[in-house]
Amino acid sequence: MAFENEKMETMPVNELREYQLKMMKSVAKKVYENNAFYRRRFKEEGIKPDDIKTVEDISKLPFTYKKDLRDNYPYGLLSVPMESIVRWHLSSGTTGKPTAVAYTRKDIDTWATLIVRAMKAAGASADDVVQNAYGYGLFTGGLGFHYGAEKLGAKVIPVSTGNTQRQIEIMKDFEVTVITCTPSYAVFLAETMEKMGIDPEKDLNLRIGFIGAEPWSKKTRERIEDMLGLRAHGGGAYDHYGLSEMCGPGVGAECTAQEGLHIWGDHFYLEVIDPETKEPVGEGEKGVMVLTNFTKDAMPLIRYWIGDITIADFEPCSCGRTHPRLPQGILGRADDMVVVRGINVFPSQVEFVLMKFPELGEAWQMIVDRKGALDSLTVEVERKENVRVDDGLANRIKNELKAYLNVKADVVIREPNTLPRYEGKAKRVIDRREFE
Ligand SMILES: [Zn+2]
Repeated sequence: MAFENEKMETMPVNELREYQLKMMKSVAKKVYENNAFYRRRFKEEGIKPDDIKTVEDISKLPFTYKKDLRDNYPYGLLSVPMESIVRWHLSSGTTGKPTAVAYTRKDIDTWATLIVRAMKAAGASADDVVQNAYGYGLFTGGLGFHYGAEKLGAKVIPVSTGNTQRQIEIMKDFEVTVITCTPSYAVFLAETMEKMGIDPEKDLNLRIGFIGAEPWSKKTRERIEDMLGLRAHGGGAYDHYGLSEMCGPGVGAECTAQEGLHIWGDHFYLEVIDPETKEPVGEGEKGVMVLTNFTKDAMPLIRYWIGDITIADFEPCSCGRTHPRLPQGILGRADDMVVVRGINVFPSQVEFVLMKFPELGEAWQMIVDRKGALDSLTVEVERKENVRVDDGLANRIKNELKAYLNVKADVVIREPNTLPRYEGKAKRVIDRREFE
């Protein structure tokens, strides 16, 4: 078992809490003294950094929302002078203003260190050849893994997204051992390999997949591990977690035990909050993930409301790491959630049900519409190639969806390769309802 920083990663929980208290005080002081937005927000809540006496006192601090980043775009959340900034990343800004995050040289190094931590936890080393198929550019995936893999000492091939056949040829020619990409792209790669007559077990050397940037199920993991030949080469597919507001990828990562994402507690403080009451949920309960940056230099965020739904486990992992874990990863986004006839439906739950049926392929989508006064939900899913499906399959899926989600859905089985494919994040929900 390799560590980036064994002392920190395996620190006894009580010592980690003490360390977190020290870091919490220091970051609260930093934003209070250096950032006008936070000084005003602290004053509105009637709190000063010195009022933090225990880690639980974090609940006295204000939340930071995505809207605050938009309203203060582009420079308003900086806590360092402009001359120390060396990079900006921007969100895509699908609606209205984008959001911007800043990095100092120290931030770039911390970020790379966290990727090294993730890579070592999954069993990667300087001997690996890393094909980085995350997008390079304003999105943090590509550059994050690039700097991290170089810091690890591995050989990096910056392929970025697209050009799938070429990617597969490169994998073969350079004996690539590590692939980084989204789960939907991993599946698309495997499907393309099959069409090209390439057998990943025999013809390729892929051992480790760093798969993330969108939620995926355990069943999808097994398929990716199998389809890309990762298990056959002694490795696996490992989830990782991040968002540009915290650093980029590197906020959390899975170890080889695959018992959930470790959220690195020496860099981030994890809270799981009830979206209604804004109070912490009980142990083992579902809520919205809220993170505080301890080590971000340019632009630390206090209690950042991420909107991802998760469940935290504070028990140490069998690998020896003591930081909090998300055993089920990300269950969905609070804003991905669709309410169908009053029931909360997460795309990840629909996928979980679909993956139980071996006759089905990976491509699927759900369409929400309104017929008269009633919502309707239709799940469209492709059958696998060379698989016969009987007339009863759609009905069995329908019953399983009803049993698991408590929602009635029409199920349509489509022919292979008829639903849209995505090289980035897959779009699973099509909401055709018109709300007044
Ligand atoms: Zn572990």
